[in-house]
Amino acid sequence: MVSTFGPVLQQTINHALRYLESLDHAPVGATATLPELRHRLARPLPDVGTDATQVIDELVADTSGGILGNSGGRFFGWVIGGTLPAALAADWLTTTWNQNAALFACGPAEAVVEEVCGAWLKELLRLPLGASFALVSGCQMAHVTCLAAARHALLSRHDWDSERDGLGGAPRIRILSGSQRHGSIDRAVRLLGLGSRCVVDLPVDEYGRLQPITLSNALAECLDGPVIVLLQAGDINTGAYDSFAELIPLAHRFQAWVHVDGAFGLWAAASPAYRHLLAGVEQADSWATDGHKWLNVPYDCGYAFVANPSTHRSSMSHRANYLTHDKDARDQIDWNPEWSRRGRGVATYAALRQLGREGVAELIERCCRHAHSLAIQIGDLPGAELMWKPHINQGLVRFLDRKPHANSSDHNRRTDAVIAALMETGKAFFTGTTWQGQRCMRISVCNWQTNEADVAQAVEAAEWALKQE
Ligand SMILES: *Cc1c(COP(=O)(O)O)cnc(C)c1O
Repeated sequence: MVSTFGPVLQQTINHALRYLESLDHAPVGATATLPELRHRLARPLPDVGTDATQVIDELVADTSGGILGNSGGRFFGWVIGGTLPAALAADWLTTTWNQNAALFACGPAEAVVEEVCGAWLKELLRLPLGASFALVSGCQMAHVTCLAAARHALLSRHDWDSERDGLGGAPRIRILSGSQRHGSIDRAVRLLGLGSRCVVDLPVDEYGRLQPITLSNALAECLDGPVIVLLQAGDINTGAYDSFAELIPLAHRFQAWVHVDGAFGLWAAASPAYRHLLAGVEQADSWATDGHKWLNVPYDCGYAFVANPSTHRSSMSHRANYLTHDKDARDQIDWNPEWSRRGRGVATYAALRQLGREGVAELIERCCRHAHSLAIQIGDLPGAELMWKPHINQGLVRFLDRKPHANSSDHNRRTDAVIAALMETGKAFFTGTTWQGQRCMRISVCNWQTNEADVAQAVEAAEWALKQE
């Protein structure tokens, strides 16, 4: 039996190691084109099977050039993390064990692993220890989970049972949010049947932060109905934090539910140097964050936390005759939106053990240091301009058209051209954004592997790109 697995798994280890070892020098972007990838991968559906080892060998060959180097240290695009060794290995075991992490009965050890992860994460992120939690596929589904709890809590105050009666005829929930929120909030709102029109866009300051006066005026206009206030820990472009200590008590005076999007920014709580940015955040009603960004566990892993466990459980729990519910253990189905699911807690457990409290703090601080150094050094190059000096791990630069009387659209064009030239080098990976009406290059450092040499290579690549016309 084992021998049927042996050859293919050994071969897979070889492929995996070859890939991981290539990350230091291989082009960090894709080198294969869309037609090439389609040509290689879109084989006719086979009538007969193929030997497992051959399937894997051909899979590696056919995908080559189409796998980005985001597991390595030279990837600074979007907000994307890599994978810690223990997390990667634990993820392989999770797949090998193939437990259905829906119930304690279907995977006893994994149910306990998740229980421990929840407790560790609350401690590390300095959230209330009594909060309930769910390990979900990402921050988007963490929003869905938290906002489902919010919907339950707010509507039950109006004697409305949204789980039983749906939303038709229910009091309309309004969501007050800064206009620079992440799009995953809007998708969560759509999925929950609240409708994106329930989101009220509030103006933010130049950093993306909601001001107390703006929020209190908006709250004063919705005195009659249920309200959710959405705050941000880590703006996608600037990493800016809302002022939780002021805004949360204000929202609570109006009986609003406060939800915090902290996809990456909540992790600053793990570092003594940065946790002041999150002062007061523990007073919120729910929090959403990711494991697959800054903690560097493999994709799909996000975490939802809810201050009042009974609202969370009431919105998710399901009991069925054919299931085996445990009276002492934690059945994940009581907290998660999915039914059958992967034991995604195992990789988180392994990552937190590999790093420890100090290792997580160092990871956060190291990424912030490298982001700062990248932004300063690239921003200092002739023809470049620093637009946002990172507070945490997110910065912005742009590139200037040096012709006389160049206007804003010339600079925008130049910025996109330099990003494209930089990407051509394959030495570093950056993405663009439009911030305050101007094209910028984002600098985002989330990978545990990024080091001084990676930063130097990226700066060199930017210097080269700036010399191209
Ligand atoms: C990435 C991100 C999300 C969405 O997270 P997923 O894990 O992709 O679902 C939400 N908010 C912010 C600020 C993000 O950076």
